[in-house]
Amino acid sequence: MKYLSTRDANVRVSAATAISQGISEEGGLFVPEYIPSLTADDFCRLSKLDYIGRAKAVLSLYLDDFSEEELDYCVRGAYSGTFDEDLPAPLYKLKNGEYILELWHGPTCAFKDLALQLLPFLLTTSAKKVGKGRTVILVATSGDTGKAALEGFSDVPNTDIVVFYPNNGVSPMQKLQMDTQKGNNVFVSAIEGNFDDAQTGVKKIFTDSAVKALLKENGMEFSSANSINWGRLVPQIVYYVSAYCDLIKNGENLDGGFNVVVPTGNFGNILAAYYAKCMGVPIAKLICASNANNILTDFIKTGVYDRNREFYTTASPSMDILISSNLERMIYHLGGNDAKMTAELQKQLADNGRYEIKGEMLEKLQSLYEGGCCDDAETLKTIADKFGEYNYLCDTHTAVAVKVYDEYVSRTGDNRTTVVASTASPYKFSASVLKAVDESKCSTDEFKMVEFLSEATGTVPPAPIKALKGATPRFNNVCEKDEMIDVVLKFLKIK
Ligand SMILES: *Cc1c(COP(=O)(O)O)cnc(C)c1O
Repeated sequence: MKYLSTRDANVRVSAATAISQGISEEGGLFVPEYIPSLTADDFCRLSKLDYIGRAKAVLSLYLDDFSEEELDYCVRGAYSGTFDEDLPAPLYKLKNGEYILELWHGPTCAFKDLALQLLPFLLTTSAKKVGKGRTVILVATSGDTGKAALEGFSDVPNTDIVVFYPNNGVSPMQKLQMDTQKGNNVFVSAIEGNFDDAQTGVKKIFTDSAVKALLKENGMEFSSANSINWGRLVPQIVYYVSAYCDLIKNGENLDGGFNVVVPTGNFGNILAAYYAKCMGVPIAKLICASNANNILTDFIKTGVYDRNREFYTTASPSMDILISSNLERMIYHLGGNDAKMTAELQKQLADNGRYEIKGEMLEKLQSLYEGGCCDDAETLKTIADKFGEYNYLCDTHTAVAVKVYDEYVSRTGDNRTTVVASTASPYKFSASVLKAVDESKCSTDEFKMVEFLSEATGTVPPAPIKALKGATPRFNNVCEKDEMIDVVLKFLKIK
């Protein structure tokens, strides 16, 4: 299996190169040259395996340059002993026909752990295969990705990781999660600026040829841990296959397939569901849920992708995004794997902040996807309603998906079995969730709110959140935007 670039039809590389390189040189994203398929017998066989077994089976189809031993090493390293009860993606039955796929039982309590626990293993194995030295991961984060990447790469041999976050742009809990990170190969710094400044600074370091040369002299190379890397996307296909296996095991009626609802930001998670569908998982509709930043809802409805609009800060911050990077892969596939067209549309997006798809491409998009959005008031009301009705507490991101799904059902009457992806523990966003269930208990103390939320709902906070209480921060570095490069080089001891 080779990987092609979404922007240049002449690029064709191995999985190991795609993962270790992260992004194609001309800026395109790597996509598999074909999508492997699984038969009914395969699914039946997989449904008898545990998550590790299922993950190895799926990954072996995409990463066929990895040996069985290598895949075993990677997958066990990622999923053995790192998730609650060794169940990375349990399927919770909310009611007849509606399931919640809980993707937040890992070390940082958000779904990014599913990919970022595995990526370090895939990346170091790939680097070894293609003869690269030490990998230095740089991350600019608005919260969840930074912590999940730190946790994944902490003390992984032959890697270093440096994370930058906006000094006043992350929640107190997220800040504490990052500042207390353990590991001898990690460094964390706040920057005086916002998330865009952090992102721009990191991109600048990536593309600085003098710095690149300096790293090379020292046997090092930069790489990226964000969701444009195929190594972050492929682990996410596994949990949709696994969810289907669990539905089979439950004896669920799947005539007509099942729907999947995904709270969406960068379009990585829902794209993984699309790949699972192409592999043979009988997914009917892919329902794309957005918050007030509803650029994707508009795109699915009209074919116009237009980022020239107001940006909202919402109660589901991990979905506050106006450029969904992974949509580029979907565009490429919608056009019949057309790199020239994709490059042209991405250029229009870069130049004018807008592009439009029409005709067959738009019809195809609309036959696959359904879009919907909701605001913060509806999000919080959904948290309260679902807790009242089912005694089930969901976080703000998941609530957006649940609300969009309810609206979809009333609009269409489509009551097929449905799986809603749940992307974070409610305790990661205690302030908003507490406000939804008992506003009188809101406080300025994060840990008090965790306690109150637990009392008000009778649920138990995840251990990694509880463990943060009283933890002493290891990192307290704050730098200016133009000092980021010095921070990196000083940490790597090559300056
Ligand atoms: C990152 C994130 C999302 C968005 O996922 P994408 O793959 O970027 O679409 C949704 N919810 C939570 C909690 C997240 O951390």
